[in-house]
Amino acid sequence: MATFIVLLGPPGVGKGTQAKILSDRKGLAHISSGDLFRENIKNQTELGRLAQTFMSKGELVPDDVTIAMIKDRLSHPDCRNGAILDGFPRTPAQADALEDMLKEFSGRVDAVPQITAPMDALIERMSGRWTCRANGHSFNTKFNPPKLEGVCDYDGSELFQRDDDKVETVKRRIQVYFDQTSPLISYYREHDKLVEIDGLQSIEQVTKAILSALNV
Ligand code: AMP
Repeated sequence: MATFIVLLGPPGVGKGTQAKILSDRKGLAHISSGDLFRENIKNQTELGRLAQTFMSKGELVPDDVTIAMIKDRLSHPDCRNGAILDGFPRTPAQADALEDMLKEFSGRVDAVPQITAPMDALIERMSGRWTCRANGHSFNTKFNPPKLEGVCDYDGSELFQRDDDKVETVKRRIQVYFDQTSPLISYYREHDKLVEIDGLQSIEQVTKAILSALNV
């Protein structure tokens, strides 16, 4: 049976970094809703134009278009064995839609690691964050600097700062997480899927904690 893991946690906590590592280790697809939107923005699609109006303010893109985008992504052959979901679901309606979608793929959410960190640490991390243009690899000037300034260690592409990593937008994104996404914590806890992970540990320690909690 396919394995689906939902990474939950506020923006800046390290979901993207962990999702990439877990996807390599487990041989599962990595689905990042934020990366999919950014790709659409880069390609100037209609979805990209719509998403940008919400993303630039730190708000969530509406459920219907987000759900449709993920449903399409899940239908790709690389998701046959499952996927690491990074940034989706972000609302209870998205979580319900995910349950329905996975039934179609005869899968289910197996585990939900919830990575946590205090607000000031999140702001510090996001304002020092640099992202690679080619594949979205993430670095941090303080905690995880690239070997060569401005260049991705993995694919040599240019590193840039995301527009929505500006302090004011970052604060709004964290607030949106607490208002709209945090209800998913109790949702997945009630379904016995939630595992709490301390996001202040090193990248390796967080990966280890997730892997030992997964049991899949
Ligand atoms: P991320 O890269 O996950 O931090 O996402 C960047 C931005 O994309 C978010 O601040 C939202 O504007 C949008 N976004 C990503 N995932 C979702 C989602 N599941 N639902 C709605 N908006 C999303």
